[in-house]
Amino acid sequence: MADRQDVFTPQRRLPPMNQLLDAAGGHKVFPRWPRSAWVDALRAELERLRNDATQAIPGASEIVAQAAEALARAHTAELRRVLNATGIVVHTNLGRAKLAQAAVEAIVEAAGNCTLEFDTETGRRGPRAPGVEALLRQVSGAAAALAVNNNAAALLLALSALAPEGEVIVSRGELIEIGGGFRIPDIIQQGGARLLEVGTTNRTRLADYEAAITPRTRLLLKVHQSNFAMVGFTEETSLTALSALARARELVLLNDLGSGNLAPLPGPLALREPSVAESIAAGSDLVAFSGDKLLGGPQAGLLVGRADLIDSLRHHPLLRALRLDKLSLAALEATLRLHTDPMTRAEVPVLRMLGQSIGMLQVRAERLAEAVAGLCAAEIVASIGHAGGGALPGLEIASRALSVSVAGLPADELARRLRAHRPAVVGRIAAGRVLLDMLTLADDELAEVVGAVRAAVA
Ligand SMILES: *Cc1c(COP(=O)(O)O)cnc(C)c1O
Repeated sequence: MADRQDVFTPQRRLPPMNQLLDAAGGHKVFPRWPRSAWVDALRAELERLRNDATQAIPGASEIVAQAAEALARAHTAELRRVLNATGIVVHTNLGRAKLAQAAVEAIVEAAGNCTLEFDTETGRRGPRAPGVEALLRQVSGAAAALAVNNNAAALLLALSALAPEGEVIVSRGELIEIGGGFRIPDIIQQGGARLLEVGTTNRTRLADYEAAITPRTRLLLKVHQSNFAMVGFTEETSLTALSALARARELVLLNDLGSGNLAPLPGPLALREPSVAESIAAGSDLVAFSGDKLLGGPQAGLLVGRADLIDSLRHHPLLRALRLDKLSLAALEATLRLHTDPMTRAEVPVLRMLGQSIGMLQVRAERLAEAVAGLCAAEIVASIGHAGGGALPGLEIASRALSVSVAGLPADELARRLRAHRPAVVGRIAAGRVLLDMLTLADDELAEVVGAVRAAVA
């Protein structure tokens, strides 16, 4: 009998659910889960304790802590907001470009029913998002434009429509991997075209292109070396020269520009990344670029160029599978509109970040240092930021970071706790310290960063 008592007694001492929920409500590290999620997690934890007679019954706060850990594990796969303190402006793993407020508002407005393919004047079906195409023509100087899902889709569509069964000529110096294992040669093959590589890794001349042309050649592809830089004994053929060759041999010149610089970039960056308008002016028949790199908009692939070519892409069956959705179109239109006026361009976060002076970054670092002073050790240090997103490779952007540390807490554990916060704060670790880079944080995010630090050191 005594044994049976021992097995059953602990059950009666399990704290009641309402007491656990009260404790969960005041939980320091993970206060944000909805009540229903807490109830499920606590119930599972109680169930586990009920079935485990070997374990002493813990107190309410310990049960809540166990449930909080289970909740955190269950929610790691969830898409949630991140405060970017990495110093990488266009961070591919963090959703690339942070959208402008106007773009966010446009997404909200389009989220219900909207004029996606509707002409309010006639009350009939209209073209799909004509505003985006008009703005793309305006910012690029091209005759026609089309928006699809991403730049890889733009290339796939262009190659499928313009060079099916034909040959595409590319320099060996431009057969790049975009990232995540996606390579330009694979996209060309997927489009049904045959790839002709010309030149060498470091030097490709006009004569190399010329010699490779056959009656089956349809297209010359020039790919911007966006995610690496070649230095030393290098030579590439200019767009102007390729354009003249394409015209003489009745080929299409397609320029994959990658990062989508609509120019001008702020300050010293202005000269370092070719712009879409420059590519059109130099004689590209079509230019393809991303919407979520230097352009600072949503994920999208933009094509601008000759009206007859855009028209044939518009009528290709693949377009239906690659077209852009209403939310992205709304955000893209709002972002492009900001680009059309020098007064509003700085509202695009990517351009605002790239245009900051070191003085502004220093002031932001000082403000944050002051706000966390009572919570942890903090020191302002010089830092190097990057544009990221395959733009301006190798360019180092002078920045300031706040180096934070807590006695007795390893840097990787502090960094982990900051990432576990809602919103997550993602910095980087250098020399045993957590660095929060000011280049990619905004002033109106500092209070939330302080909140994350407070929770992490509690
Ligand atoms: C980034 C990039 C791409 C791929 O663009 P996505 O929008 O990510 O599909 C293609 N080409 C170049 C040169 C790039 O830099």
